[in-house]
Amino acid sequence: MTAPRKNNREFHLIEKLFAPHADAKTAGHLRDDAASYTPTPGHDLVISTDMLVSGVHFPAHAAADVVAARLVGSNISDLAAKSAKPVGCLLNLAIGAPWDEAFLTDFAAHLGTLLAAYEMPLWGGDTVQSQQASVSLSVYGELPSGTMITRAGAQIGDDVYVTGVIGDGFLGLQHALAGTRGDSLAAYHAPRPPLLFGQKLRGLAHSCLDISDGLAADLDHLCTASLKAMRVTLADIPLSPEGQAYADGAETLADLLSGGDDYQLAFTAAPDDSAQLAELAAATNVRLSKIGTVQPPVEGDYRAEFVDRSGQIITLHRRGYQHF
Ligand code: ADP
Ligand code: MG
Repeated sequence: MTAPRKNNREFHLIEKLFAPHADAKTAGHLRDDAASYTPTPGHDLVISTDMLVSGVHFPAHAAADVVAARLVGSNISDLAAKSAKPVGCLLNLAIGAPWDEAFLTDFAAHLGTLLAAYEMPLWGGDTVQSQQASVSLSVYGELPSGTMITRAGAQIGDDVYVTGVIGDGFLGLQHALAGTRGDSLAAYHAPRPPLLFGQKLRGLAHSCLDISDGLAADLDHLCTASLKAMRVTLADIPLSPEGQAYADGAETLADLLSGGDDYQLAFTAAPDDSAQLAELAAATNVRLSKIGTVQPPVEGDYRAEFVDRSGQIITLHRRGYQHF
């Protein structure tokens, strides 16, 4: 099978819809084969990519602004977790039904607004036709050399924190699927990861990641990378009013803690830095909650355990989104 030939339509799309969001100096108005970027001296590049497939990561008939916001939000979330400042991005588009010219025009406009807000110009990409619509963004960020916050630095005695509320990504998805409304729908449609807060966690957080698979699974990822365990108090996990109304039992609470799509941060830091973290959260308008502590692993079990107020361990029937 031969790939469809590049045609005028593709040229038109790039020139008209995407070139306005490119940085002329770096990406030559998207008229060259590649872009060229000079990193700030003494800085490292931080690189991440996220792909969204129609019918999997957004409903097939999702509006263009929803696709753009979820694409940018999920990628910015990774840079926030690593404490990096966005500098540029690449966009890969597989155009398939039901995406038409009107959808793409709308998508490009919303994408451009978001990229401008994050000061993250478009450096290039690729465009193909496909049976199934999908879109992927690769983001590039910068930070002073050697300062990236990894998943692996949690220390015994650290406090465990999360930003925002947990579970609204799950609740919003239920609304999107059922066609119902609720406050959480905005969290699902347009995730807003705490980028400025994340950038200031450098030197404060010992370990960090973004909550994309579900809080329980993602805390397990921190534990596994850091070779530690965690003890998390269920009652300290921040829920929205809608989340509180939904979580009326262990099963429904587990939905919120394993649902994914929150695009908030989970991180660990020394108890001595709690006042500084609270100040930072206030200054950047972020809700910050201390939910647990880092502990030594028991028999090589690198997991977060959840306890109720009396210290009794609560077993969750599900911990996160399974990709495969
Ligand atoms: P090539 O054949 O050399 O890969 P393309 O025709 O695919 O070149 O792309 C031409 C230019 O348009 C390149 O600068 C590329 O980065 C850019 N481009 C293509 N598709 C996109 C897209 N979806 N978003 C942003 N830039 C794109
Ligand atoms: Mg190409």
